[in-house]
Amino acid sequence: MTTNIHYLIAGMAVLLVVIWQYSRQRQMDDRNSRMFRRLLSVVSLDVAAELVSTGFILYAPYSFNVCRMLSNTVFYLFQALLPLLLLLYYVCTLCTSRVIAPSAVLRMGIPTIALVCIILTNPFTEMLFYFDGTGYRHGPWYLLLYISALLHIAGAAIFVAVHRASVSRRNLASLFAVFALAALGIAAQAVNPSVLTTGFGLSLSILAMYLTINNPCACMDSLTGLNDRKTMDSFHYNKQVEQFLHRAIEEDLFEVYYQPVYSLHRQRFVTLEALSRLRHPELGWISPDIFIRLAEKNHLITQITELQLRRVCRFLRENPALRASIANVKINLSPLDLIHSESGSHLIRILGEYGLPCSCFQFEITETVATEYSASLTRVAESLQAAGIGLCLDDFGSGYANLNTVMQLPFSVIKLDRSLLFHICTDKNAALFYQSIVSAFCRLGYRIVAEGVETQEEMELLRSWNVDMIQGYYFSRPLPPDDLLRLLTGSAEMQAENQA
Ligand code: C2E
Ligand code: CA
Ligand code: CA
Repeated sequence: MTTNIHYLIAGMAVLLVVIWQYSRQRQMDDRNSRMFRRLLSVVSLDVAAELVSTGFILYAPYSFNVCRMLSNTVFYLFQALLPLLLLLYYVCTLCTSRVIAPSAVLRMGIPTIALVCIILTNPFTEMLFYFDGTGYRHGPWYLLLYISALLHIAGAAIFVAVHRASVSRRNLASLFAVFALAALGIAAQAVNPSVLTTGFGLSLSILAMYLTINNPCACMDSLTGLNDRKTMDSFHYNKQVEQFLHRAIEEDLFEVYYQPVYSLHRQRFVTLEALSRLRHPELGWISPDIFIRLAEKNHLITQITELQLRRVCRFLRENPALRASIANVKINLSPLDLIHSESGSHLIRILGEYGLPCSCFQFEITETVATEYSASLTRVAESLQAAGIGLCLDDFGSGYANLNTVMQLPFSVIKLDRSLLFHICTDKNAALFYQSIVSAFCRLGYRIVAEGVETQEEMELLRSWNVDMIQGYYFSRPLPPDDLLRLLTGSAEMQAENQA
């Protein structure tokens, strides 16, 4: 039997390129990146161990028997542990965003532990492999390792399929590419053991993961394909913000500003959007676009949402007249606020703690989130709707929305993104487009909010197209609570009512 080592060498080359590229990038310190680093190390060690053991088998003289046995045993141990690592630490973390409990690790690891015992006793039992005068020989149970790896991959694929609602489409595609490539490599080697394709398949799957899940070029300049200088320069800034976020959560340093939404028909403010604000002692105000993104990346956003919701609840409870004068307060939700089926009931429970009716609130979900997480969202959205909480589709027109999916969710309000508004006063096509969207959504029974209205001209155009609700600097910027009360109450009566 001649062993074809070329696939293995090609696999090692692919891995070295990934390691070289990856080490040149600035690496995020979030959980997914740490998982990827671990996986990359174990796969590299696995392929290196296979290369060393194959080298001994092919080229070492017979007197190197102990080295051959030892290196092959080490390689088999890697092969046994790798599928478990892939399944447990990578796939589970990616799908559930949770740390896996030790008891679950133990339960899932039972077949691997059994396999490790078989490998460790193999030098005596020779069930998996042995060496005779002609070289490497398979034992009667040699397929066990392949079967175990394929079963683990199948298990991981089923796990991902079950949790697909919590995984973004891009990550989903990447994970299934990983499973397919790894399984193909393993199956090919099981059928023809002289062709060493397992390492090659694993290397390609790591490459697929690297190119999507841990995309180092996520902050890439779309024109040049180079790393965005601004993002590189702001790396230090982002690090400082990330560190500050933990303290800000612990000490509840977030503030809530409110931007009122104006109804042209009723000629008064009818709802509010709650927007988080955070001030760093040295850096000053941090843009929500930055700290929300970093909080999402570091899995801190659910804590911020809860702090914000509690702050809004306290504000509404202390100001019953304000509560009576507006229809609801809109709260922005992030994907992580929505991926668990119990998320809805948790949010409802918080509202209950303050004795506020659910109808005081409306939750905003962006169109990208609505498109990417539609399955888990449906469950959460239904529980919110059943409790009487309205749902608003945010930023419509800012990205790409799968309208079909979006329309299956129980949204009552649609916010048209500010970007759609650009040029409506100067470009006929832009105006026609905006007007068509408004009339289509109105006919479908949705209420519309036009976001980002800054000028009278824009406002007049929107009025002529029968748009009722306007949010934008033209009517008001987001305001701190006291300024908001002053704007909305204006009159002494409401303040008097509040004190009564
Ligand atoms: P958003 O939900 O689309 O909120 C509206 C953003 O547009 C706000 O930016 C608001 O200040 C800004 N805006 C409103 N009217 C105008 C206008 O006429 N012209 C211009 N140029 N801008 C206008 P802000 O407060 O900086 O928030 C940015 C984003 O950060 C929000 O976009 C939202 O996605 C996110 N965000 C803010 N607070 C929270 C929060 O507590 N939780 C979550 N998950 N996201 C939040
Ligand atoms: Ca919003
Ligand atoms: Ca928006």
